[in-house]
Amino acid sequence: MTTERIEHWDAVVVGAGTAGSAAALHLARANKRVLLIDARPLADSGARWVNAIPDWMFDEAGVDKPTERPELRARVARHVMLDPSWKHRLVLDGSPVLFVDMRHMVDRLQTAAREAGAVLRGSEPLREVLSSDGRVTGVRTSKATLRASLVVDASGMSGVVRSRVAALSERCPRPKHGDVCSAAQEVRRIRSVRDARAWLASRGAVGDALGVVGLEGGFSTRLIQVDLERAEVEILTGAIAAREHASGQALVDEFVREHDWVGERLFGGAGAIPLRRPYDTLAIEGAALIGDAACQVFSAHGSGVGAGMIAARMLAEEFARDPRGASQRYQQRFHRTLGARLAAYDVFRRLSQTFSRDDVAELIASGLFTEQTFAAGLAQEMPALDARLLAGLARSALRAPRLAARLLPTALQMQLVHRWYERFPTVAALARPWSAAAAALVER
Ligand SMILES: Cc1cc2nc3c(=O)[nH]c(=O)nc-3n(C[C@H](O)[C@H](O)[C@H](O)COP(=O)(O)OP(=O)(O)OC[C@H]3O[C@@H](n4cnc5c(N)ncnc54)[C@H](O)[C@@H]3O)c2cc1C
Repeated sequence: MTTERIEHWDAVVVGAGTAGSAAALHLARANKRVLLIDARPLADSGARWVNAIPDWMFDEAGVDKPTERPELRARVARHVMLDPSWKHRLVLDGSPVLFVDMRHMVDRLQTAAREAGAVLRGSEPLREVLSSDGRVTGVRTSKATLRASLVVDASGMSGVVRSRVAALSERCPRPKHGDVCSAAQEVRRIRSVRDARAWLASRGAVGDALGVVGLEGGFSTRLIQVDLERAEVEILTGAIAAREHASGQALVDEFVREHDWVGERLFGGAGAIPLRRPYDTLAIEGAALIGDAACQVFSAHGSGVGAGMIAARMLAEEFARDPRGASQRYQQRFHRTLGARLAAYDVFRRLSQTFSRDDVAELIASGLFTEQTFAAGLAQEMPALDARLLAGLARSALRAPRLAARLLPTALQMQLVHRWYERFPTVAALARPWSAAAAALVER
């Protein structure tokens, strides 16, 4: 006869990507007994490609920055945004983001969590969520029953805890197709450095990160970074996951086909990114959502690593302070700070999906899109609405009045949404009216 293995933990974290590994790290540092599990082997969990992450988000997440190869691949000297015809460009000297090999970063976070005292187990998928009187009390995996005061869903977009608990799945529906980005990223060898250099030189772009926007609908992007010294090229793409648009992978494949100097694939990956604003409900008694499982993504360009790690730190700090009410305090703290920004930029993301190729060209050519707003977007920060920016925008609006009439109300709407989130209620009874108003403000 086999007896079921029952284990008791302070916290069980489901999903060992960046959000889950950061949560395990911070919880273990606060002397909590933490188990981190993943359905995949640990060496395959989380993102396995190159991601761009703003510098400041590491500090905010309490995670050391990568400082050298192989984890830190690049800090680029110039970041260039182009329209699909390559006629118009916006140039940013310097870039607020680090390009990181996520295979090494996930590995480093897992090692740090283990060293801090967390227990990590791969190849152990969650099968069931246990609850009693509306409170989540643990999970059942392929190997054991795990009882815990806190279950953290860090399982990515599928939200395997979220989707199994009625109180969460009703309030946190799976993102719709139009709110999902199909993304791909590949690092490839350069077959001919001479041809690659010639290609860059013909575009006046040696040493730049080149991001073409609007190839497959207004939201879409294809970012190319060529490292002539190492003879490697990085290709990062994303488009709305809808039938009328090519997928992220198809955008990578097209670039490879069209450029003979691009050679064999070294590594990379493809997947879906949730683009909607974070769920209003990030926690119920005994369970909390972080990372892609919570839709904590900067949706204007589908970046979720920084936000997921910051959320992980907030949750761990609140749980360490006092497990009672920790989930609710985490939810409130997140929405009032970073959540406000993510929701505000989701307003812009929705508008960007309506842009045509010509709109993108006009946005850059007219100056409605500025270096300042480009930098703020890359850094995942709200643009400072100072006199210089406003005067510049007013002049640009005269050059492109039709687009300005769409963009300027959106800028105002972003500010309103940000303010509304800063007032996320402390009283549970006010959560529903707050949510209804938030939906109306963002989605109208
Ligand atoms: C091609 C591509 C490029 C991207 N580029 C960027 C970028 O430049 N910058 C950026 O910030 N973001 C980028 N993103 C998004 C970013 O990768 C995600 O936001 C981030 O990885 C989310 O981290 P996470 O820890 O929440 O989830 P994940 O990284 O998805 O990790 C979730 C983990 O949960 C595990 N899991 C799933 N189901 C179960 C189960 N039943 N039981 C146990 N474990 C389970 C999975 O195996 C996985 O390891 C990109 C995404 C893609 C696909």
